[in-house]
Amino acid sequence: MSGEIGGLVVVVILAGSVAAFVVGTIIGRKKGATEVAQSYTHDLKKVEARLASEGSFRKALQNEIDWLKKENERYIHLFVTFPEAVKRLNSTQSVDEVSSAIVRLAKMLIDADEISLFFHREAENELRISLAFGIKREQAEGLRVPFGEGMIGTVAETRFLLSESEYRTNPEYVEKRARARETRIVSTYAAPIVCKEKLYGVLNIGNIKNRTGNERKFLAMIADLAAVSLENALTLSGTRTEATTDPLTSLYNRRYFQERLVEEVQRSRTYNVPLSVFMMDIDNFKHYNDNNGHPEGDRLLKAVSKLIRDNTRKTSIVARYGGEEFIVLLPDTPKEGAMAYAEKMRSLISGADLPNGEKQPLRCISVSGGVATFPFDGDSGDEIVRRADEGLYQSKDRGRNRVTPYEPPAFHKMTLPGD
Ligand code: GH3
Ligand code: MG
Ligand code: MG
Repeated sequence: MSGEIGGLVVVVILAGSVAAFVVGTIIGRKKGATEVAQSYTHDLKKVEARLASEGSFRKALQNEIDWLKKENERYIHLFVTFPEAVKRLNSTQSVDEVSSAIVRLAKMLIDADEISLFFHREAENELRISLAFGIKREQAEGLRVPFGEGMIGTVAETRFLLSESEYRTNPEYVEKRARARETRIVSTYAAPIVCKEKLYGVLNIGNIKNRTGNERKFLAMIADLAAVSLENALTLSGTRTEATTDPLTSLYNRRYFQERLVEEVQRSRTYNVPLSVFMMDIDNFKHYNDNNGHPEGDRLLKAVSKLIRDNTRKTSIVARYGGEEFIVLLPDTPKEGAMAYAEKMRSLISGADLPNGEKQPLRCISVSGGVATFPFDGDSGDEIVRRADEGLYQSKDRGRNRVTPYEPPAFHKMTLPGD
């Protein structure tokens, strides 16, 4: 019996070995059954893990694709709108308009919480904030950064576009960092705005939300565009000022007055509102020049101009009309209002402590003036000016240092023969 059992055991072991050998051979591994089973479970787990990791990989890949799709859409949108934005930037004429076009462009290309534009004030050796997006008014208003201090001041001085980490880690900027004052303006990137060797300012970007990796390139490009546009706007505003301003008194010149007169008459017609003109002339100015010299005469012209400008609303146009003749365009003003303003101006000048007044025939510096109003005194701008001039000459005739409203001739009932 024991021999049978012994034989059976031999057979079982033999069969197990064969099975193990067969299974092992089948799966390519000459191992025992348990080992094979373990190995199989292990492989299964590995496959499962790999599938799981492939799942998350696929998910990550899908997210990446979605993000790229979105980015692509954004770039296509930029591609379409960018030329228009650049055109707007180049066609804007005032520095203020250019500033806001620059910030708008930066907002379009860089997804940042804060964008600010600083102008370089050479005389004060500082940078002053001119426009800010995403920054509280009380934090931005009047903000100044000394040239060469902090990240914005460093960018201005070195004229290098800097990232925050470049600024923080560069040993050359140790002193600049130490000197920097707390501004609460976040700077992730800042770029100098330079054109033809001249520094106009710094464009600062803070807290970029969704980084694309293109921020640096975009910022450099916007700063370049900004520099050219700012230069154009500044040159143009200088030329424009020259073309519209009288060099001695800094009041508007006659040509500009004529232009505005045409526009304001049109506006008066459209909105059916009155428009008045006050013309004045310094009394006995020849006498003043003869007694005090021409340069003193020039000084008086400047002083009287300043007095008029400082006491007139911003919406009124004050111009030097001729040698010692001034004209004021008063939009939305009826005859009575214009007469009140004219009388105020006359008494202000005659009462002012102007040089050599006591030597004048009337013992003071004085003006004579005339007032006319559209549409009541004439149906064109030129006619209104002529009528105001008529009022002025009546004032001269009546003894000077006075203002006279233009009076239309009274209608007299004619007695016709046979009546
Ligand atoms: P009225 O009271 O009648 O206006 O007499 P007036 O002497 O002021 O007028 P008139 O037209 O006889 O003389 C004006 C003078 O103003 C003559 C001219 O030399 C002088 N004048 C004109 N432009 C300037 C200027 O830019 N600077 C100086 N200093 N004098 C000027
Ligand atoms: Mg005069
Ligand atoms: Mg005159």
